[in-house]
Amino acid sequence: EAKRAGGGRPARFEPAMRERAARRGGIEADLRRALQLGELFVVYQPVVGLAGPPGSLAVERNAGVEALVRWQHPTRGVVPPIEFIGVAEESGLIGELGAFVLEAACRQFVTWQRELADDAPRLLAVNLSRGQLREAGFTARVAAILRETGIDPRQLQLEVTESLAAQDQAVQASLHELRELGLSLALDDFGTGYSSLASLHLLPVGVVKIDRSFVSQAVDSAHHRVLIEATVRVAESLHMGTVAEGIETAAQAASVHALGCRKGQGYLFSPPLPADVLARWVRGDATA
Ligand code: C2E
Ligand code: MG
Ligand code: MG
Ligand code: MG
Repeated sequence: EAKRAGGGRPARFEPAMRERAARRGGIEADLRRALQLGELFVVYQPVVGLAGPPGSLAVERNAGVEALVRWQHPTRGVVPPIEFIGVAEESGLIGELGAFVLEAACRQFVTWQRELADDAPRLLAVNLSRGQLREAGFTARVAAILRETGIDPRQLQLEVTESLAAQDQAVQASLHELRELGLSLALDDFGTGYSSLASLHLLPVGVVKIDRSFVSQAVDSAHHRVLIEATVRVAESLHMGTVAEGIETAAQAASVHALGCRKGQGYLFSPPLPADVLARWVRGDATA
């Protein structure tokens, strides 16, 4: 932006940059404090089963949940992850933040298995970021959380983005180590990165999550429908499942179901919910 504005008065932009840096530093100190004071919490978005024959979609409420972190800030209210995950990455707080989310979510998931029995979500998805996978001893940290919470590792799915999954040897090695713990991996936001259908077989993932940018076009764009269908076909041939992300309308749900997606997630079904509300939602209580 500074360039486009011309070289005339660059000084005008310096205060803005300083301000941005200061704000970032402020967030960092704030986040450090938030972790200590317990201001972070986890919400859960249902992942539903899209069952039934073509043309008659039946929604299963307990296919799974995705854990999503939130920050209850004392003055700013609830802060979304886009505003602090990057800061956590850059400031080395991501390891601690990620471990907090994983442990809280595993603990909650095990409680649901006990309290909800057959209605309990069958799978827990938790997002990972770059800094966590690069952290020395990350696999051991996950193993300890599995042990301490008692979650069945087969019910845990860790989500990584394509750009991350396709990265260097260190990340690849980390992903393979994680799988040896008995959990599975999902490829998040598929279609937004540079990897292609042709390289899906190289990644150690069991599930492909088709990004919202495709799902939102599934009704109006034949081009996007073809891409979704191709993704489903390739995934199936590799014995991978698919989840359609960001389903907002009944027409989008019908479309991705017709194209072969067997799971979905989105505001049509439910936004991310606090744990107690999620429990009522999966049981189908009218109050949820
Ligand atoms: P994601 O993993 O792709 O998660 C899905 C995001 O889409 C969530 O945003 C969710 O609230 C939102 N979403 C779900 N359904 C709909 C819909 O129908 N329409 C629209 N417009 N949005 C929908 P959220 O919670 O703000 O999280 C954003 C991203 O932040 C996540 O994207 C994930 O990459 C990252 N993130 C969230 N929690 C964590 C965490 O605990 N650790 C790490 N490393 N990353 C996290
Ligand atoms: Mg995700
Ligand atoms: Mg996603
Ligand atoms: Mg996404």
